[in-house]
Amino acid sequence: MSGPRAIIDHAALRHNLDRVRRAAPDSRIWAVIKADAYGHGVEHVWRSLDADGYAVARLAEAEQLRRFGARRPILVMGGVRDVTELQRAAELHCELAVHSPHIGQLLESTRLAEPLKVWLKVNTGMNRLGLPPELVPEWLSRLTGCAAIREAPGLMTHLANADDIGDPATERQCRRLRDIPAPEGTLLNIGNSAGLLGFACARSHWVRPGIMLYGVSPFLRESGVDRDLRPVMTVRAPLVAVNRCRRGDRVGYGGTYECPEDMPIGVIGIGYGDGYPRHAVPGTPVLLDGLRVPLVGRVSMDSITVDLRGVESPVPGTEAVLWGAGLPVEEIAGAAGTIAYELLTGVTARVPREHINL
Ligand SMILES: *Cc1c(COP(=O)(O)O)cnc(C)c1O
Repeated sequence: MSGPRAIIDHAALRHNLDRVRRAAPDSRIWAVIKADAYGHGVEHVWRSLDADGYAVARLAEAEQLRRFGARRPILVMGGVRDVTELQRAAELHCELAVHSPHIGQLLESTRLAEPLKVWLKVNTGMNRLGLPPELVPEWLSRLTGCAAIREAPGLMTHLANADDIGDPATERQCRRLRDIPAPEGTLLNIGNSAGLLGFACARSHWVRPGIMLYGVSPFLRESGVDRDLRPVMTVRAPLVAVNRCRRGDRVGYGGTYECPEDMPIGVIGIGYGDGYPRHAVPGTPVLLDGLRVPLVGRVSMDSITVDLRGVESPVPGTEAVLWGAGLPVEEIAGAAGTIAYELLTGVTARVPREHINL
């Protein structure tokens, strides 16, 4: 019996990029394809995203993209940690986030074969990576005269709470960046998905959408369809067995589910070893023949069990949908106490990605 698979719909990817364009028509777009394109398979995904550039977290991801043949600009958001990495970034023609004085000093003290373009990353309130705003004017002028740098540095920042439309922190963060005294024409790079969809102040010269490209709403208590986004990944797995259980029988590890009556229990061939969340609560829906059937008992490594009382004549071999088209990943994430980002990036290498509509 075949195992689970993740179907990756490239028509949906292209549609979602178009949504970014419509939401931020005056911005240039970094398509964020870090973490294997959020679990979708970057080797294929990058080609379907006709963006102005690609953004990744780490240098190794940029390296991989160049190997695949990507020629557009690549922004390494995590920066570099030493001279060797800096030289590699220059060889790969990357653009670099300068998020600490350490990286600024590396740029000042390293001779590069090719100068690179940099973005000063400013900490406007997230308190993760970034220079404090008051250090930025000095670093802007230090780096502007620096031989390792091509073009005037841009300014970027990352939003901490843009998924909550009502939170005034986002406008405060944008204002902190926009208020920095910088030369006329300095490029700004602010909005992630939630920022560019929800806040005019985050629609800067460049924006960095990730999750919305994959069809997921970045906002709390929503799913992608609410924003005219289409799910890109649909995870499917076969119904491998139907057990006729008796009233009082217990199901799975720990026997946490007790059958309230004689009933069919379905076993579906996907588990936490594939990236199905082990913490999905009982009742989490699984789509079988277009019907929602509830998860019962614990999630195992290779399988899950579902209550099939609602299905007339379940046929082993039928493929169920765990999330994706017809069953929003946001809903499954909610049922597992996590976020869609974690489910998408957590699909393991054991699950083949099948790319359609390339
Ligand atoms: C991951 C990431 C993004 C994309 O965020 P989404 O919420 O997926 O749109 C943008 N900027 C930075 C710095 C990131 O790390």
